[in-house]
Amino acid sequence: TSVFASAEYIPPDAIFEVTKGFLADSDPRKVNVGAGTYRDENGKPWVLPSVRMAKEIVANCGHEYLPIAGLKTFRDKAAELVFHDTKAWSEGRVATCQSLSGTGALHLAGLALKKANPTLKTALITEPTWSNHDLLFSSLGFEVIKLPYYKTGAFDFPSYMAALRAAPSGSVIVLHSCAHNPTGCDPSKEQWKEIATVIAEKSMFPVFDSAYLGFNSGNVDEDAWAIRYFIEELKMEASVCLSFAKSMGLYGERIGLVTFSTGSQDTARVMNSILENVQRATVSTPPVYGAQIAGAVLNTPEIAKQWAQDLITMSSRVQSTRRKLYEELLRLGTPGDWSHIVKQSGMFGYTGISPAQIKELQLKYHIYMADTSRISIAGLNESNVEYFAQAMDHVVR
Ligand code: PMP
Repeated sequence: TSVFASAEYIPPDAIFEVTKGFLADSDPRKVNVGAGTYRDENGKPWVLPSVRMAKEIVANCGHEYLPIAGLKTFRDKAAELVFHDTKAWSEGRVATCQSLSGTGALHLAGLALKKANPTLKTALITEPTWSNHDLLFSSLGFEVIKLPYYKTGAFDFPSYMAALRAAPSGSVIVLHSCAHNPTGCDPSKEQWKEIATVIAEKSMFPVFDSAYLGFNSGNVDEDAWAIRYFIEELKMEASVCLSFAKSMGLYGERIGLVTFSTGSQDTARVMNSILENVQRATVSTPPVYGAQIAGAVLNTPEIAKQWAQDLITMSSRVQSTRRKLYEELLRLGTPGDWSHIVKQSGMFGYTGISPAQIKELQLKYHIYMADTSRISIAGLNESNVEYFAQAMDHVVR
C-alpha cells in the first residue's frame, strides 16, 4: 500500500483563499479587505520611496550565501531599532538572528526556546489572534492555550487577566507588541503594566510578535513601548520577533529578525549559538536580497530618514481611511455603533458582521473579507470607501 494511504487532506489557509477569490473576480467594483497588505490611495501595492533608494545601492550586491545568522549589518541595526536605549543592548545581552520574516522569527524563537529549555510546554495566545499562531506553536510541540481577548469592539481586559492568572506558570506567552491582529485593539499602558506584572509573577516567558513596529503609529519607539517596559523596567528576559513585511513593504522578500533579550552576555552568546543551530537545521542560511535592502535602509542616514517619513505616510493613510469609513457609516445612518472603527488602530479592524453578511458582501458587492469579519483598512481608499460603506449599510439592514 501507499505511504500516503492514511494521509488526510488539510483545507487551504482561509485568508489566502479570500485573495484567490478576489483575483479571479472580474467586476471592476471589486474590493479586497482580506489580506493584510498595504495599498496606496489608488489601491495599488506600494514600493516605499526609501526601499527604492536602497535598491539602487544594493543593485550589484551579488548572490553569495549569507552567514548562518544572516547579514550582520542588518541584524545589528534592526535590533538597535527596538533596543537602542536599553541596558540589555548597551551591555551586549541581546542575541539576534535573521529570519524568514515575522513567521520565521516566531518559528526560530519557538525552536530555540525548546532547545534551550525542554521543560517549556505551553504557549499562550489570544483568542482571536493572527491565524498562524496556533498552527505554528502547536507544530513545534507546544500545548497551545487561548486567552479571551475581545468583546464588543474592545479589548476584554478583565477576561484576559482572569485567564492569564489561571494559566500555567512558566508558559511561553505570545504578545502582540502593537496593532493586535485581527482586532486592532491594544492594551493601554496601564493595562500593559498589570499584564507584565502577572507575567513576571508567574515566571512566564514573553515572545513579542512585532510585525507592525512603526507601521502602527508611524513611530517605532512608540510602537515598541510595551517591549521596553518588560525588558527595561521589569528587567525581564524576552524574545522580540520582527518583520519588515509591513513596515518596509517587503512582504515577499521574507526579511525579519528574531531576538532574545537575556540576563547576561554569556546567555546571549549561548542563545546566539542555539539560534544558529536551529537556523542551520531549518533553512541553512537566510535569503540575501531583503537583508541587503533592509540593511541599506537602516544603515544609510538619508534613506533611514526617508523611511521614517514613509512610516508616517502609511500609518496616517490608514488612520484617515478609518475616519472616512466611520463618517460614511454615520452619514448613511447605518444601524449599530461603529465607533470601534476609529478606536481600533493598525492595519486591521473588526467589523463584527455575521458570516451570512460577509457572504452577501462577496456575492452581491464583490467585496472580499476574512470570514472572521476582520477588514484590512489598507484595502480601502478615496475611490472605494463610499462604495464599501454603502454595501456594509445594505447588508446590515
Ligand atoms: N504576526 C502577525 C500578528 C501578523 O499579522 C503577521 C503578518 N500577517 C505576521 C506575524 C508575520 O508575517 P510575515 O511572516 O509576513 O512577516
